[in-house]
Amino acid sequence: MPYFSFHTHSDFCDGKASVEEVCQKALELGFSAVGFSSHAPVAFDTTWAMQFQNLESYIKEVNRCRLKYRGQLNIYRSLETDFVSQTRSIPFSTYRNLGQLDYIIGSVHLVNNPEKNGDLWFLDGPVENYEKGLKACFDGDIKKAVTQYYRQIQEMVLTQKPDLIAHMDKVVMNNKGRFFSEEEEWYQSIMEETLQIIAKAGVIIEVNTRGVYRGKYHTWFPNEQVISRCIELNIPLTISVDAHHPDELNAGFDEALTMLKKAGCPSLSFFEGKSWKQIPINDVIPND
Ligand SMILES: [Zn+2]
Ligand SMILES: [Zn+2]
Repeated sequence: MPYFSFHTHSDFCDGKASVEEVCQKALELGFSAVGFSSHAPVAFDTTWAMQFQNLESYIKEVNRCRLKYRGQLNIYRSLETDFVSQTRSIPFSTYRNLGQLDYIIGSVHLVNNPEKNGDLWFLDGPVENYEKGLKACFDGDIKKAVTQYYRQIQEMVLTQKPDLIAHMDKVVMNNKGRFFSEEEEWYQSIMEETLQIIAKAGVIIEVNTRGVYRGKYHTWFPNEQVISRCIELNIPLTISVDAHHPDELNAGFDEALTMLKKAGCPSLSFFEGKSWKQIPINDVIPND
């Protein structure tokens, strides 16, 4: 069973190569499937999301490659879609229809303080902005901010029904153990509450390798402790490399696969045709 990549960026958002260049590299690496998941347009200025006016050409380009490489590489249409709140986000169903999407990856990069409904706390990017945003949006109250991050994931799962959740504990990346520890009781409890909701909804959690291969964090998103709990709760799992450049397409995949096998994960979620299937993890062989 060759590699796959269902969470993949291109130059339609903050990726560094064209859809076609990604496809060519995927073929070279012997991939069987690539799903394109540019950051969906958001209702405010960012440097990383796709512009609204480019959505149609994005879908056209993915469709063109899908036809061109038919029989060699299965290519799917997706978006990594941000969720803030039902009043501040574009419904996922709108994108599902506009983009004739095969699936949607839901993510939270921006956290809203519902008591203010003002500026959003941006989790990604430089560490200084994480601190500044925490002060500005949550008066520095990390417990409140992180709890709200998980509340947004919960609300996203319940109201938007994404197929997959991107890097579900990414809120820890820029924390780097400074403001809180993942061992604290309140953190464990909001994590457990969130996992219970995800398990009930049957949404897939990806094991995102990007933080590790970019040297931004020492564990996958989510970490091994959370992954073990996902396995206990029968939450479907998959591996996402979240490549923003063709050279990253298989970065960290084998390591994540080995870890999942050791942790006792029985199967991986794999998109094929029109739906997600579970494939036995032992059928997924590392290429190296
Ligand atoms: Zn993301
Ligand atoms: Zn991504």
